[in-house]
Formats: sequence, C-alpha cells, structure tokens
Amino acid sequence: MYKTETHMHTAEGSACASAAGAQQAEQYKAQGYDTIIITDHFFNGNTAVDRSQPWEGMVEQFCSGYENAKKRGDEIGLNVLFGLEYAWEGADLLVYGVDKKWLLENPDLMQINVREFCDRVHANGGAIVHAHPFREAHWYIFDLKFLPWHTDGVEIYNGGNAEKVWNERAKWYAEQYGFTATAGSDCHHIGGDRFFGVLTEEPITDIAQYVDAVKNKKIAGLYVPEKYK
Ligand SMILES: [Zn+2]
Ligand SMILES: [Zn+2]
Repeated sequence: MYKTETHMHTAEGSACASAAGAQQAEQYKAQGYDTIIITDHFFNGNTAVDRSQPWEGMVEQFCSGYENAKKRGDEIGLNVLFGLEYAWEGADLLVYGVDKKWLLENPDLMQINVREFCDRVHANGGAIVHAHPFREAHWYIFDLKFLPWHTDGVEIYNGGNAEKVWNERAKWYAEQYGFTATAGSDCHHIGGDRFFGVLTEEPITDIAQYVDAVKNKKIAGLYVPEKYK
C-alpha cells in the first residue's frame, strides 16, 4: 500500500502554518509517506499571500510553498503534488487537478461564486473534497455549509478536528450521499502525532491519479492513528 497526505499547509502559502515547504517534505519523508499534496489556504482563506499585488504575483507567491516542497521532495525521494484549499463561508474545499498554469489562466477566480469555481475545476478535470464539514470553530466557521452537488468526496478524518463527533458526522454525510471518504492531517507545523492520510494500491505520482482515485473510488483505505479513530 502507498500512503498519501491529502491535506497540508506550508508557511510560504498559509498564514497559520509555521512549517516551510522544504521542512514539510522532510517531515513527511521521515513519517514514511510516499506522496504529499500541498493544499495551502487559497486567497479567500487564511493565505500568507499579499493580495494587494497583481494576480501573477499572488499566484507566484501562493505556489512557492509547493515548489519549495517539491524541490526538496525530488532530492529525498518523496512525491510532492499540488492542490489548494478554497474557503467559502466556513466550508473548506480541497481542490485537486488544477495547477499554477490554470491559476494564471483564470485571473477572475476571486470574482466568481463558489459554484462557478467548482464547475471550472471540474471542467479542468479536477476533483473537490469537502474538508472537515462538521468542524466547529466559531471564529471562522459561522455556520455549516454543504455543496453536495458540487463536490466529489468528503474528508471523514481530519487531524485538526478537536472532537471525534465532527469526524463521525462527516462519515455519516459521506455515507448518506455515497461520497468517496478521505483522511487528511491538515498539518501546519513540524511535530505532533496527528498524521493521517489515504492508502492506495498504486503509487500516486501525478495529481491526475489522485483525482481518479477520488472520482472512481480507488482509495483502498484510510490511514489514521488508532487513538484518533
Ligand atoms: Zn490553516
Ligand atoms: Zn487545511
């Protein structure tokens, strides 16, 4: 089985993260992962990016955490792939199957609504997973929001969830709608023991393979430490 991190941040891209991209690559290699997907907070979330600059500069800065992680990953033998975490009124959406080129070609992403955003991701062949849909963190999640007709999967184990019942509700939501279930650490820092992920029978070396796994139910298992199940 191959182990993939589906939800993690870098200090270059996310204001709430302290681990730089290169440090994250080293940490995940040491934790025995085969692949990591960097999902920094997008411009509508807790981004580290200066939003007063032109779009090209914003995209450059946003992608730098991924690029630094990838450079280190290439050196140490870890697959590093690109994703992002889009924020909509408390709903956080993990987006896979878009890249820097797509961001540069879509400079109006902050002007379109969440449904149009999801449609564009899907038109580009991507997949969307609703992260921690039942997390209660009232300083930024003012209510629970769901987009069952615009998402492909649900994160049923999140390493940042303080209460197990938030994961249990997410599992119920995934089962009710027949969504692919995923797990992710939501890792922002170096250290700790909340390393979650997904297991696949084939290695994930290209983001299209992970998109296929989400859309076509090819995730063979979820990796969650026993005490957090
Ligand atoms: Zn964060
Ligand atoms: Zn996150």
